[in-house]
Amino acid sequence: MKTNPLRTTVVGSYPFPAWLEHAAEHLTDFGRDDIAELQRDAAMIAIQDQMTAGLDVITDGEQTRFDFNLSFYGYIEGIAREDAGARRYGPPAHDQRGKHQIVGELRAPRGLGVVEEYKRLVALAPAGPSLKASVPGPYTLSGRLIPNADYPTRYALTEALLPIVRAELEALVAAGCAELTVDEPSMSCYAYKEDTDRFVDIFNRTVAPVVGKTRLSTHLCFGNFKGRAVGPRQYAPMFPAFYAMTVDEMHLEMASREFAELETITSLAEHYDVAVGIVDVKSYYIETADDIARRVRACLRYAPADRLVFAPDCGLSQTARWAAKQKLVNMVAGVRNVKRDLGLA
Ligand SMILES: [Zn+2]
Repeated sequence: MKTNPLRTTVVGSYPFPAWLEHAAEHLTDFGRDDIAELQRDAAMIAIQDQMTAGLDVITDGEQTRFDFNLSFYGYIEGIAREDAGARRYGPPAHDQRGKHQIVGELRAPRGLGVVEEYKRLVALAPAGPSLKASVPGPYTLSGRLIPNADYPTRYALTEALLPIVRAELEALVAAGCAELTVDEPSMSCYAYKEDTDRFVDIFNRTVAPVVGKTRLSTHLCFGNFKGRAVGPRQYAPMFPAFYAMTVDEMHLEMASREFAELETITSLAEHYDVAVGIVDVKSYYIETADDIARRVRACLRYAPADRLVFAPDCGLSQTARWAAKQKLVNMVAGVRNVKRDLGLA
């Protein structure tokens, strides 16, 4: 389904501008129209930074998910909000995020908000790049909910969320979304100890109605909340099971792992396009265009150009904006240099 070799893309999120973080902490000061303006302005900045870099695919940077009520859990009925983590001090990590109680049936009668995000992106983005929407998969989405008598396990929660996510994907495709990521980083983080065939079955049932109707991808990383990983950073436990995921593109975290297991992209590329993370979102070393070109050429030793896509390792939301911006500029410049050398540009 891919039309251009050595495509450049992003995982989805982008750092919030400082004023947006400040505004998000004082939302009660704003009226409904003010908030809508904040959302458009924030999305516009993320779009602009990505356009400046010259990416083939852009997103809205997930700039409008700045408040609980605007995040996925805020759209789901039956959840009692809990922001405070069990650990409140010390080095930042995932265990400082709250886990939410379930107080009723899990339903999302208004959807998950991604269709509105996508429509805003379409309205704001200039012509040129492909526009991508991203939705977390049900297994990842279940991670911050506490099982109860009605939903006794994480898998029971996943099954309850699956039709909600599926409906959002169908609505996105109906809205014209031609490029869609279903993020399931919890599957990559826990593949080493869970049933990987069960993960694939969950994933494929979630995306079934949109397969073939959009360019579908997934992102498998090892965690990046506050720039920290949570899983053993190895792809080996996921395969061969994950070859059966019904996607057009599989995104992998490679740069922060110094390209360990890069040879695995050979067999992955027999099943789908491979989006290789060639920018380390956790490091403040800014990769130069030459670094990027070297990494692209290393990938070309293992997979053909028409199967390769390049991206940062993960969403950029945990990387300071000045660094995120420059990393994207250099990434696109490095990939373009290789394309020129190969006569592909
Ligand atoms: Zn990630």
